[in-house]
Amino acid sequence: MINTLQGLARNRGWVKSLLLVVLAVLVAGGLWLYVDEDAARDVKKKAELVALEAIGDAATRRIGGDSDGEASHGSAVELIKRPIEVQQVAENVYMATGVGNVIMVTTSEGNVLFDTGLVLQTPRQLAALQAVSDAPIHTIVLSHSHADHIGGTRFFAGQDTRIIAHKQFSEEQRYLMELEPYQYQRNRTLFPWMPAWDERPDIAMMRYGGIEPDLTVDDWERYSFTLGGVEFVVLGTPGAEGADNVVMWLPQQKILFSGDFFGPQFPQFPNVFTMRGEKVRKPMEYVKSLDFLMPLGAEIVVPSHLDPTYGQAQIGADMQRIRDAVQYVHDQTVAGMNSGRTVYQLMQEIKLPAELDLVQNHGKVDWAVRSIWDYYMTWFHFESTTELYPVPAREVYADLAAVAGSEGLVSLARNYLLQGAAVKTLHVVEVVLAAEPANSQALALRQQALSVLLNAAENGLQNDYEIYWLQSRLSDTAARLDSISSRP
Ligand SMILES: [Zn+2]
Repeated sequence: MINTLQGLARNRGWVKSLLLVVLAVLVAGGLWLYVDEDAARDVKKKAELVALEAIGDAATRRIGGDSDGEASHGSAVELIKRPIEVQQVAENVYMATGVGNVIMVTTSEGNVLFDTGLVLQTPRQLAALQAVSDAPIHTIVLSHSHADHIGGTRFFAGQDTRIIAHKQFSEEQRYLMELEPYQYQRNRTLFPWMPAWDERPDIAMMRYGGIEPDLTVDDWERYSFTLGGVEFVVLGTPGAEGADNVVMWLPQQKILFSGDFFGPQFPQFPNVFTMRGEKVRKPMEYVKSLDFLMPLGAEIVVPSHLDPTYGQAQIGADMQRIRDAVQYVHDQTVAGMNSGRTVYQLMQEIKLPAELDLVQNHGKVDWAVRSIWDYYMTWFHFESTTELYPVPAREVYADLAAVAGSEGLVSLARNYLLQGAAVKTLHVVEVVLAAEPANSQALALRQQALSVLLNAAENGLQNDYEIYWLQSRLSDTAARLDSISSRP
């Protein structure tokens, strides 16, 4: 899900003082180096876990919010407030809850983990699972390279632990690392409780990346192994979150460990596109992956966020509905493109039929339409020559406002709002603000238009990302209005 949740502690000063404590323990660890390398490694790991636990607890408190911790559909704040505890899913399957679940399958020859959660929660999840079984971790399977799924890997892994991931895992990890500063800003816009980039605790042990799988599986490939009499299958399932998606299957018990294959909630309309920003997700690969998984006949789905789902018939019907909904949106988009509809027309026109209805609090159908359009034809829409050149419309806004006059434009924006056309209001307001960034009437109209959109989102599809974005723009507008009214 979220790739940059690791930067959450209260402030840098606080983190620094904590680091001094850690450093002292690390020096002690260094002295051990001359005596026993394994012992030194253990001391260092323990010291890091102590520090991490304090940082993680502070971050969780900081996020606060109104949520009561009852995570129902996996919004970021709900997830971080989810208590860390162990749920027993089946006789030999345990799940440490958290932002990202860490799932452990116990066998007589060692344990297998599926996903390792968010690094900030590693100490508590590790302790919770070790209380169930402290047998060595034989294998860790990582569902994909997002930070909330791989964060605890090096703390859970022992010397001989084998890591299995998708063939694209390293490449996905690379691009997420290279674009981390940019993605961080985007995430912080949506999740304003994150500290600023240069205020975040930049500590080596919390840093994203650096995981090298020992074994990889490719798209729609199966890798099977047996440990302590338990058969495991790792399957490459592209098209979901990340181009490096795998799931794990226990054929004897018909349990599917789904990672983020379905998104944070099951069932829901999937994130064919994530507006946080990430590489494109391929809709027909997703459909093919569902066709690959459905015949397994899962009786339990254990996701890496929120709770498991039980019941073969319901799971099968839900998977079919997700599959058909994505296929439907895809086919309607392609048909619309072929019949000469624009992407904006298709975003307005394509709706899920009643029998394929799914919640859209994570993925959203109209954004999926646009994403499918762009996936096939990329960014040039053959609508205007200006699309081809680095001179966006907003470069003429200030001149346009000067010619049209801000009073006339403000009145136009107000009329749009009265007609219920909030987005048109925002278009006109942007023209006015390009010329007069402190025009209080324009800012007030922007505030009203955003409120209309937020109200519609909260009472409509309740898409988390749409709501976060609108809230962020509203607080930006309120701050600008405040700074104008406080001027002498
Ligand atoms: Zn996730």
